[in-house]
Amino acid sequence: MPELPEVETLCRQLHESVAGAAIKSVSVYDKKLGGIEPLAGRAIRRVRRLGKTISISMDNGKSLTIHLRMTGRLFLHSQNTKPPHSRLRIRLDGRNIDLIDPRRFATVKVLPETVITSDNDLMESFSLRQFMERHARRKVSVKTLLMDARAFAGIGNIYACEILHAAGIAPEKRADSLTPEQWKTVLRHARRILKKGIQNRGTSISDWRDLYGRPGENQNELKVYGRAGKKCLRCAGVIVRVKQAGRGTYCCPDCQK
Ligand SMILES: [Zn+2]
Repeated sequence: MPELPEVETLCRQLHESVAGAAIKSVSVYDKKLGGIEPLAGRAIRRVRRLGKTISISMDNGKSLTIHLRMTGRLFLHSQNTKPPHSRLRIRLDGRNIDLIDPRRFATVKVLPETVITSDNDLMESFSLRQFMERHARRKVSVKTLLMDARAFAGIGNIYACEILHAAGIAPEKRADSLTPEQWKTVLRHARRILKKGIQNRGTSISDWRDLYGRPGENQNELKVYGRAGKKCLRCAGVIVRVKQAGRGTYCCPDCQK
């Protein structure tokens, strides 16, 4: 599933490649997407990420918002053929942006441009105080809380495992047992790891591709995810895989307490 680094990668690449371009037409290939307000003739002003949503601002004060959900991705190309699983095409001058989405959960809407303050977004105006008040005392595991979209935007299973390994915190440890100092450590590593994910254009464990169809490179940087049975890169321990809330969780029992 595309998480914060993958969505941010797409938004940056889109902004670089298509800001200023005019939309010639939009074709919806999948009826499940529903009707989309006509956009022909509109110019793209800017592209930015709002949580896990891609917001493409137009010159009429509206924004085309795309949420990729499970398997959605955007592909910029200049071919005439339709790539497999393409659900929507935005035609620009000689180029197309296709929404490719095998499982068809992605959503596309045209909405009035709104200013959203994202207090759960570690790369934006995250409020530590608000987080401590609203979430830090919850009686769930720290990993479950990291992956809860109400607390943090765009941290999925892979990034949560990496953050907790870096912070030396066991994934099943209860969120309400962490001290404020421990939370600061977790959040510091979370920011660093998400930032590195963006620099590496996302993590391509399965089907993630960037705007140009290239895999990301962050899978080469993973320190714990997918390394069961291998030596911990930080201590003499061995990485194990456990099931937690139905998800494969990787951790080092020796240095994550
Ligand atoms: Zn270790």
